Amino acid sequence: MFEPIERVPGDAILGLIEAFKSDSNPNKVDLGVGVYRDDNGITPVMRAVKAAEKQLIESEKTKAYIGSHGDPDYGSHVLRTVLGEDSRLLADNRVSATQSPGGTGALRLAADFIASQLPGKSIWLSDPTWPNHLGVFAAAGLNLEKYPYVDADNRLDFDGMLGALKKIPEGDVVLLHACCHNPTGFDLSQDQWQQVLEVVKARALLPLLDFAYQGFGDGMDEDAYGVRLLAENLDEAIITQSCSKNFGIYRERTGCFIAIAKNSEEMEDVRSQLAITARENYSNPPAHGSAIVATIFNSPELKQMWREELDQMRARINGLRSDFVKALAPHGLDERFAHVAEQRGMFSYTGLKPEHVEKLRDKHGIYMVKSGRANVAGLSSTNLEYVCNAIADVVK
Ligand code: PMP
Repeated sequence: MFEPIERVPGDAILGLIEAFKSDSNPNKVDLGVGVYRDDNGITPVMRAVKAAEKQLIESEKTKAYIGSHGDPDYGSHVLRTVLGEDSRLLADNRVSATQSPGGTGALRLAADFIASQLPGKSIWLSDPTWPNHLGVFAAAGLNLEKYPYVDADNRLDFDGMLGALKKIPEGDVVLLHACCHNPTGFDLSQDQWQQVLEVVKARALLPLLDFAYQGFGDGMDEDAYGVRLLAENLDEAIITQSCSKNFGIYRERTGCFIAIAKNSEEMEDVRSQLAITARENYSNPPAHGSAIVATIFNSPELKQMWREELDQMRARINGLRSDFVKALAPHGLDERFAHVAEQRGMFSYTGLKPEHVEKLRDKHGIYMVKSGRANVAGLSSTNLEYVCNAIADVVK
């Protein structure tokens, strides 16, 4: 029966990792992968996470199932972090948290929830978006549509985006990147979020806010601006959250599906459906990552330690962005790449064309995605100049 099954090409980004590994160039630089790197090129375990794990080894009393909604303590911390400590949604009991296997698990819950409970609704994705959005939503059987996000020069096209949102059929679902847009790095200003809110209201759209990078852009509260604006001013919204990046616990699969409903009755209805969706997918979420996060939030000392480490990671990325543009100045390229310093998060649409990307790889051993998307965190004090010289070489 397996004989007719065809082999499909692997994930393009994973293929890049393989190609990078087998490159013998001693100066090679990996700007392709989607994880944070420190100045030594390492994706570290945060000190607060290690300390929490040590405590957990001693204190954990059982490995029994944690239930389809996961750990309520974790859920409550996530809600307060995402919505703000004094959000009136919490006081009004209009919001529900379902712990999920990473942000991807939350997206799959959202996809299945929309497919089963909101039949006939299409989901609108930014063009471009994180490629796995397409896979996850298509796998749940949803109809995918797209709205423009960048122009022909690969710069943010907000007018194009807003114009397209205004034409979305009433009641459809629109996915918005809460901050640190992947893959482009272009985020919306507060004023632009306000305009998006007006259109979402006018078209009665259901926003799905994908929040995978809180704390990686401008700060924990700053990055939540758009999420909180929409959550506070609409009757209904979905938020998919991830702790992979801001706790550096990628492989622990720790995320959350958040539903906001008009009132607590409807919230409980939605919540009851989510338990079934989770159960039919994977039954219960994994518990180690959520236990780490809850342990950190429950300890003022660990929380402080985690916040400082996260602040350092954000400062490193934003510092690299401006250092990158500065290092291109001697080549007369600082204006051409000035947008890189404005973007936020790990990823950047550099504006490099596929032929530049190919030359960078073949001639200089520098790896990034064909679209010109680079992971800024792959830069370091040791390779920054090398990368900038190479860019100058290939674009001239
Ligand atoms: N959304 C976006 C936009 C992402 O970039 C990612 C991770 N690359 C995720 C969601 C999912 O993250 P995870 O499943 O690793 O928590």
